Amino acid sequence: MKQRAHTWIAARAVGLLETEGQVPGLVDLLAPHVKEAAIGAWLPDLSDARLGSAKVDNHVLKMKPVAPALTHFRITKQDLLVRLTPERMLTAFLDRDTILDAAWWDQPYKAYPAPGQHLANRAMALTVTVVDLLLFGDREVTDLVPGPTTFEGRLAPPQLTRAEQAAMHFFMLSHFVADASMPLHCDARKLAAYGAGLHMEMESHWDKQVGTPFDKGHAKWQKMKANQVIPAARNLDARFGITFAGSVPELYAADAWAEVVHQCRASFALASILAPPAQFHYGDETARAPFDTVFGGAAGQALLAEVDRIILHDAVLNVAMVWKDIWKRF
Ligand SMILES: [Zn+2]
Repeated sequence: MKQRAHTWIAARAVGLLETEGQVPGLVDLLAPHVKEAAIGAWLPDLSDARLGSAKVDNHVLKMKPVAPALTHFRITKQDLLVRLTPERMLTAFLDRDTILDAAWWDQPYKAYPAPGQHLANRAMALTVTVVDLLLFGDREVTDLVPGPTTFEGRLAPPQLTRAEQAAMHFFMLSHFVADASMPLHCDARKLAAYGAGLHMEMESHWDKQVGTPFDKGHAKWQKMKANQVIPAARNLDARFGITFAGSVPELYAADAWAEVVHQCRASFALASILAPPAQFHYGDETARAPFDTVFGGAAGQALLAEVDRIILHDAVLNVAMVWKDIWKRF
């Protein structure tokens, strides 16, 4: 995903938690600093952050078939749908899918990320980092966090986390959770590569739909006050035909790492529905599934609208779920 979409997802997740009303302290922490989302939710994709989390394999978990004996890397369709939970729109979509047959689901799939890099690892690392930052919070942060934090008085004021620093890290975390919803981040086929005709085009399509109000370089974004960002984010629901249920469920896995891995497995299945392996074989380096082919014609356009709705709805919900899980620890 690109800057506008990442910014919208983060801002919309704050709005979702605001509507739900279960973690008012978290909303009060994030909402005044929501404009930082244009930096925090986007920073992990900047080339000058490459020494840190911006290394490409931190953003993906690209799976491919492996030997049938590697049963550890197999998950039944039923099991995955249970772990995805009914609240995610992708669950119902996969449930009614007829493109991926029993043999597809019976096959183990595994990713081979570069050493030290892994989408779920980054989400987990930032989750723990945010907990620590909240523990070291200044008076404002401590007053917002619902449980006891005991480091005020034991650390010098410059060592304590300010609200805007904590917010920045929440937004950075949102980036990796959102990336797990992008199907082409989870598919090792060459056709899923950024420049292969589908990946960049889907992300550009979303950024176009999100529009200039969420473009950090555009005057519309620059003029927007913090308290106007969440209403503007909500206004985009209709464009994507998204209706949020209003509740933010607990993580099924009670673990951001496992939750992101499950999301990635589901996203890989979605990629395999968009570009069915019966037609675009795994391991075929030359197969391409261009955007205009996958989403061509009336049926393709309807599929695109449905996929937009599912991916963006679930990305927002997943971010809100992971954030809320952090807050609920206190
Ligand atoms: Zn990314």
